Amino acid sequence: MSYLAGIWRIEHESARTEGGFPMAKASRRAIDEEIREGARMILAARYAIALTGAGMSVESGIPPFRGPGGLWTKYGEPPMNGFQRFMADPKKAWEERLSKRNDELFKPLTVARPNPGHLALVEMEELGVIRFVITQNIDDLHRQAGQKALAEIHGNWTLIRCLDCTTRFHRDEIDLEKLPPACPRCGGLLKSDTVSFGEPIPTDVLNMCAEHSAKADLVIVAGTSATVYPAAGFALEVKQRGGILIEVNLYESEITQYCDVSLRGGSAEVLPRLAKAVAEMRREALS
Ligand SMILES: [Zn+2]
Repeated sequence: MSYLAGIWRIEHESARTEGGFPMAKASRRAIDEEIREGARMILAARYAIALTGAGMSVESGIPPFRGPGGLWTKYGEPPMNGFQRFMADPKKAWEERLSKRNDELFKPLTVARPNPGHLALVEMEELGVIRFVITQNIDDLHRQAGQKALAEIHGNWTLIRCLDCTTRFHRDEIDLEKLPPACPRCGGLLKSDTVSFGEPIPTDVLNMCAEHSAKADLVIVAGTSATVYPAAGFALEVKQRGGILIEVNLYESEITQYCDVSLRGGSAEVLPRLAKAVAEMRREALS
């Protein structure tokens, strides 16, 4: 599946299966023994990483794109050739983006804060059991939570990226008086860091993901049905090498069949239980 088809699909999936909308089936909650089983696997892993997606954003109050109440349902879908349109007329693309700055489209991103799931991943990073997080979310929440080893595979909405030298700048660092803005470092063309439809994923991010997933022997897949490439590929590749997949999701998804443990529930509920079990079991082992 192409990346484009992939992202199209996840947004559909996230609305249907991760947003807790009426179409979604009710599902049971992970029991403590399943949580402890997941924790045991994480503690036994040499190099555990996590892959996170839209479900985690939804739990921080960011609406999904599709489905009832979805942003695209209300405001229309962005063009599938967004990147080509940007390249054809960067000035116009910037003007359009800036005119939407205070829209309802951006408001949920502005007010969203990390949820207990984001904080649990940071706790496990601090315990040294999670080595890297790959997120498909653009909401900045893993950074706000304090995650250090992180790749935002679809970019970060608070950043601006140079298409020539790939340096990222905080939006406050860039003068948007003259559009399109130029890179302060190399003079190149600047674009929002959020990866547009049709835009290649920046190679520095892809390389980071490849490097860490090559070392990984366990992936926690949280809040995503992991059907978006290339992100999904990193998780499935670990599985193909004999690694372990632990799913944290409200609902069964396409990846469930490949998972060694499926923990049913929202990330904001399950990940803190998992982090607590990891910390407790490690203390027990050390005492
Ligand atoms: Zn540059």
